[in-house]
Amino acid sequence: MTSAILPTYARGEISFERGEGPYLFDAAGTRYLDFGSGIAVACLGHGHPHLADAIARQARTLMHVSNLYTIPGQERLAERLTANSFADFVFFCNSGAEANEALIKSARRYHFAHGRPERYRIITFENAFHGRTLATIAATGQQKVLEGFGPKVEGFDHVPVGDIDAVRAAITDETAAVLIEPVQGEGGIIVVPDEFLRELRALCDQHGLLLCMDEVQSGIGRTGRFLAHEWSGVRPDIVSLGKGIGGGFPLGACLLTEAAAVGMVAGTHGSTYGGNPLAMAAGNAVLDVVLADGFLDHVTMMADRLRDGLEAQRQRNVTIVEEIRGRGLMLGFKSRVTNADVTAALRDKGLLAIPAGDNVVRLLPPLTVEDEHVDAALDIIEQVGGELST
Ligand SMILES: *Cc1c(COP(=O)(O)O)cnc(C)c1O
Repeated sequence: MTSAILPTYARGEISFERGEGPYLFDAAGTRYLDFGSGIAVACLGHGHPHLADAIARQARTLMHVSNLYTIPGQERLAERLTANSFADFVFFCNSGAEANEALIKSARRYHFAHGRPERYRIITFENAFHGRTLATIAATGQQKVLEGFGPKVEGFDHVPVGDIDAVRAAITDETAAVLIEPVQGEGGIIVVPDEFLRELRALCDQHGLLLCMDEVQSGIGRTGRFLAHEWSGVRPDIVSLGKGIGGGFPLGACLLTEAAAVGMVAGTHGSTYGGNPLAMAAGNAVLDVVLADGFLDHVTMMADRLRDGLEAQRQRNVTIVEEIRGRGLMLGFKSRVTNADVTAALRDKGLLAIPAGDNVVRLLPPLTVEDEHVDAALDIIEQVGGELST
């Protein structure tokens, strides 16, 4: 099929016409159970009435004014994000990569403001993913995203996750910060041990470095806590958010402590769209649901059900579920066959899942899924396991 779209994506032929809760429907009316959520974005599922109404109402009232003016919805969303996290300040943008750009700029600027402009390097990790802009591909560090886009943005040093000695050895007089995903998503649902995050915190404190976390995929309830790093008890200095924060509306945010924000004064950063009234209506509507009493407990209950079901299958048949990884509803499993074959077979039976690095199949259902959806997904995985083992 010819297409005028720049062919940067390896797309499937499939196309959806509408969504309802955890389901997507194609033009023929065929129903799919969406355990990918548009890559951890549609955290409330599709067509959530509260989110859809908030966006529709705001679109009719006022869509955009620019950051030349005070935006009440932005004040409110920032207030709620800081009240429910480690942070004191929020910068709004439109995507995860932009949130990481704000994070990287803030970390460098922090040392500049303290009279140490030579401290600009950031230690990042193998198998990381931080986005597709020039700085965030350098932060990601993998050849497959960098090739042909040189010269690479200077200042990112990569070390293995879990190796605190390697982190220590990578610190120089030029190091500004450490940047890590608490759960590596694209890399293959690799949960960073809580203890390692605590060791990073101690090391950063010892050397005057900022501890930064990319929670673009793991944040906003995905792991059963509002932000995934909360499991570790560690207080980060800067955190980037994206994906689920808008529930499908393009939105990103960079959260900072007051101390970490010291360099980001008027004129240092900006975004035309960032935090516009329409995006803020979406973000506030998502928080109305995610911060409601009992919602995160629901995520944990669904996650336990899904994980227990996968574990039972692993004990019966390791062809499809050989290893289970993840936290909350950010789950992945490894199979003895390729993740491409597994996701294709699941899709043919009406379950959408997403391949990730290290041959992992990712399950990132809407956080609003119920028992019946989890059970239906498990049933399909089991059927596919049976077929692929024969
Ligand atoms: C998806 C993702 C990004 C990039 O977000 P975009 O909105 O695509 O720019 C960055 N970091 C992590 C951890 C992600 O999962």
